[in-house]
Amino acid sequence: MQAAEATKLQQQWKAKGSPPCEHPRLAKEYYLSSQTGDKVCMTCGEDFSPAELKQMGR
Ligand SMILES: [Zn+2]
Repeated sequence: MQAAEATKLQQQWKAKGSPPCEHPRLAKEYYLSSQTGDKVCMTCGEDFSPAELKQMGR
């Protein structure tokens, strides 16, 4: 998923009042054609660094 798309999702999620999200589906984050190394939740748009992902066991 593009980083810009993730930002848009985050805004939409915030507009819904930021309900809790279990982050059921994570996608690799891209900035243009390069991977950022982070993953983003396809539901709420939150991004996670590799360290955070490791901590979450994802
Ligand atoms: Zn989420």
